[in-house]
Amino acid sequence: MAKSAMSQSMDRPLPDISSLRPPGGKRSSKRDRILEIFLRQEGHLSADDLCELVRREDAGIGRATVYRTLQWMVGAGIARKVDFGEGHSRFEPSFRHPRHFHLICTKCHRSSEFLSSDVEALMEEIAAARNFATTQAVVQIYGTCEDCRTGTKTDTIDGTTTELVFARDALRIAIATERSGLEFYTRAAGLTKDARGRTVFQRLAAEEREHLGTLEKRYGELVAKNPQLEAKPTFLFFKGAASGLFAEGAAKLREGVDDQQALLIGIKCERGSHKFFKRYGERFEDSEGKRIFLEFADEERAHLDLLIREYRGLVERQDRRSPAHAAVAKPRR
Ligand SMILES: [Zn+2]
Ligand SMILES: [Zn+2]
Repeated sequence: MAKSAMSQSMDRPLPDISSLRPPGGKRSSKRDRILEIFLRQEGHLSADDLCELVRREDAGIGRATVYRTLQWMVGAGIARKVDFGEGHSRFEPSFRHPRHFHLICTKCHRSSEFLSSDVEALMEEIAAARNFATTQAVVQIYGTCEDCRTGTKTDTIDGTTTELVFARDALRIAIATERSGLEFYTRAAGLTKDARGRTVFQRLAAEEREHLGTLEKRYGELVAKNPQLEAKPTFLFFKGAASGLFAEGAAKLREGVDDQQALLIGIKCERGSHKFFKRYGERFEDSEGKRIFLEFADEERAHLDLLIREYRGLVERQDRRSPAHAAVAKPRR
């Protein structure tokens, strides 16, 4: 099957396939058969590819039925329509397949999938600034792949492994964030003069260390189960987003801050991290990568709540000691 370019639908909710059966439809209805065959495929199918596959299994299903079913699947959010500039559309299952963009080689016609939170954020920003309601955003990069240019055998991400590579990258990102969080809290604990504040930072550092261990174990298990996974190219590109948050916070700590400011910096980092992982994670269709993001968002939320409680406690203790200090900034939730 030829591989090529694509388009991508944004933010379509995950369909419950069993509920999408036509009313009164029997289990063996033609539509169910076609759906079942389609969902077994990976990569990017043309309508003709699907007709051929279907007819290999059931010669009684006509071309028109396949075409109609494909249109229905696109409408129901089960399939994504992709245009590789070949003069006809291709279709890929959207179920358990994270949305993505494509690099397309015009020599060998292979396509390779990737996603970037930065590119998505920028597109959203532009659409919002122009008051534009986006239904679909397409990013296609055409050119020559490394294979074709240098003869070096390189791997692509073509739909067969996208979900696994997505999970791998989600774990890598969570691990990197956890690591910088650990560094941040270790440094904060060293700087804090207030004994109670120090204990809080130490506790958070210990939690980050524990979470880090859990995530690394999970990463190790994923890679052990799929030995080819480590060598796969990067799928998720995160430049700004959450990874830089704690590093920025740690740099601020170096400027010499008091206990209260240290807590506020921690609150800002955790809030930013929680929001990013939650918002970004929620937009994916059900997958391991989505679960990793949302679980991580929950952990960051718990840290945020703890820091806010501590901040309030600290302010109260200071107020009791010197009422003149009573007017201090309250952290936002
Ligand atoms: Zn190529
Ligand atoms: Zn694709």
